[in-house]
Amino acid sequence: MWVFKKIFYIIFYFCVIFDTEAAFSEDKNLVSKIRFSNSDNGIRIVIDVDNEFKYEIRPLKSPPRIVVDLQNVTFDDSFSFPNPVGIVKGVRFAKHSAEISRIVFDLNDSGNIQNRRTIKQSSGSKRKLSFEIISEDKISDSELRKTSNRRNYSIRKTIILDPGHGGKDPGTSYPREVSEKDIVLRFSRILKKNLSRNKNYRVYLTREDDRFVSLKDRVDFAKSKNADLFISIHADASSAKSTKGFSVYTLSNKGIDKEAEKLAAIENSYTESKIKYQSNYLKNALNPRDFYDFKTKLSQAQDDSYVFAGILIDRVEKKSALLKNPNRYAGFAVLKSTDFPSVLVELGFVTNDYDRKNLRSLNWLSSISYQFVDAINSYF
Ligand SMILES: [Zn+2]
Repeated sequence: MWVFKKIFYIIFYFCVIFDTEAAFSEDKNLVSKIRFSNSDNGIRIVIDVDNEFKYEIRPLKSPPRIVVDLQNVTFDDSFSFPNPVGIVKGVRFAKHSAEISRIVFDLNDSGNIQNRRTIKQSSGSKRKLSFEIISEDKISDSELRKTSNRRNYSIRKTIILDPGHGGKDPGTSYPREVSEKDIVLRFSRILKKNLSRNKNYRVYLTREDDRFVSLKDRVDFAKSKNADLFISIHADASSAKSTKGFSVYTLSNKGIDKEAEKLAAIENSYTESKIKYQSNYLKNALNPRDFYDFKTKLSQAQDDSYVFAGILIDRVEKKSALLKNPNRYAGFAVLKSTDFPSVLVELGFVTNDYDRKNLRSLNWLSSISYQFVDAINSYF
């Protein structure tokens, strides 16, 4: 099944390349080949590229894999890679966004990266990216710290913060005290300010003031900016006054969390009735390739969203109470993009005394924003 999917995807991808090559034949930068060889501790990977390029490599878990992002690079039509070997059980590749092409090495076991470097050939413009994938249990603690602390900031990241609701749509509220639309805008502004100190981040808000923005416009805006991460920010309400705590939603896969689905329906109904990006897309898809591409990209974005949600919850837990089962799933319209990972956070409950006090406190909002910055740094 996996092999079949891979072949299908390769065929699909070449069709896309074929179209773009005619238009950009002048200044393309091509990836032509991947090679594997055994190294002392694991597998050495060498990727051949035509010209100088920017890249980023990171290990991800659940499932274990190494993701290589290459900027402004496309795959040669003779692009090839060898059969999986050792810890590497598969290779996938795709155009990830307008600027980024992505190669994913699926692993049998948790792995990390060592000895990464780019090699320039003595003549010509060709470059090689070389690194080793090492099984994590073969790396000593000190080496692991060295590897994971070494961040690669060669590619700037675009982060979209999406303060929920706005204008005619107030979201949840606690009469005469708080309105969700105001709290989430306030928090988003603080977070933007703190994130923007890092020059490797471009940060945008989907609304800068108290105005109504449709759910579709929020997602379209993120697409137009080539988002690398989309964070929708909300505050919850419950008829049970004791319900409190922070939670993060990612797109539900199987509708396993029925409660959350109901919540998604409520969040979505504030502004638009039942937008279903996924079903619209499928209805409009002209052929099975579109469908396959959509599914592949959606599940990749979903994996990444889930990883980020986990990191964020770990960080926020240090400073604030969490909702029971804080990592939740729902079908919120803003989570259904195939182009970037997206999460929806509920900062707390406006209906709970403790949470409401926090949500109204500049100190609390600011301290939580630093946990977000930490989580984002660690995700990238
Ligand atoms: Zn909301």
